[in-house]
Amino acid sequence: MTAAIDVHGLSKAFGDKRVVDDVSIRVEAGRVTGFLGPNGSGKTTTMRMLCGLLTPDAGEGTCLGLDFRRQSREIKRRTGYMTQKFSLYEDLTIGENLEFVARVYGLDRRRQRVTAALDQLGLASRRNQPAGALSGGWKQRLALAAAVLHEPSLLLLDEPTAGVDPKARREFWDEIHALAAGGLTVMVSTHYMDEAERCHDIAYIAYGRLMARGTTGALIEQSRLVTFRAEGEGADRLASELAGRPGVEMAAPFGSALHVSGVDRAALEAAIAPFRDRFAWRETRPTIEDVFIHLMNRAEDNFA
Ligand code: ADP
Repeated sequence: MTAAIDVHGLSKAFGDKRVVDDVSIRVEAGRVTGFLGPNGSGKTTTMRMLCGLLTPDAGEGTCLGLDFRRQSREIKRRTGYMTQKFSLYEDLTIGENLEFVARVYGLDRRRQRVTAALDQLGLASRRNQPAGALSGGWKQRLALAAAVLHEPSLLLLDEPTAGVDPKARREFWDEIHALAAGGLTVMVSTHYMDEAERCHDIAYIAYGRLMARGTTGALIEQSRLVTFRAEGEGADRLASELAGRPGVEMAAPFGSALHVSGVDRAALEAAIAPFRDRFAWRETRPTIEDVFIHLMNRAEDNFA
């Protein structure tokens, strides 16, 4: 497979605060990579450096086959970027917004491109409506259409669906996968677990460091987490009794059941032993959310 991004030793400080610390990352072309991690951990900063929007303090490598430090102009030209904040004009119509973006990029075949984008979005009949009248989900789909109007090779999405309802988020993701199937490489930051599961690969970043990398399945394996699930009357209330016991990293209610996780199997089994009789226990596969919470706890410990 060819790498769309292959960068080593990426670092960036703002003042005396190192917000990205020696990150190396390789992203295959045509893959959808999810950036996850606590707020303020350097996800946006990393994405912006990879595509030439921000100058790194250190790091070498390529983006879209170009030297990511010396050829950032060309990389920017071939990149689409979209954030959670709606950046189009609410008082221009949907069509006018796309035409404006096409002009800014100096694109040829403007009318055809805009019409094709509107058709693809299912917005052709609403071409003359003000963008401000669209619902949140539709606004984000319009912004996505604007971000790919110049047919970029790389698409960066920074929490693009924050605050958007589940159905609209699903449609947005269908669109992302359709674009990736056409060869576009996508990097997307998110806090939603269902979205993490829709990525081909995950990069988990905490406090400026890349802590885990791979498919969700690989991340679950790498974590070495052991998870037990308890069911029975009051299982959900057991969380507070178990929390803080040796071996118990997490105890979280799931509906009327409880998930208890840790990496030390023997200690975890000893912790739940006194409750074996009162509940029905079985070992279960950790969820990707269990893994992220585990990674976050570990990062906090390292940070402290
Ligand atoms: P994330 O996307 O993971 O939430 P960011 O990359 O946005 O994290 O931010 C990482 C850290 O860098 C935060 O502490 C943030 O306040 C800081 N930061 C980001 N951009 C700037 C900037 N232009 N100047 C100073 N500090 C910044």
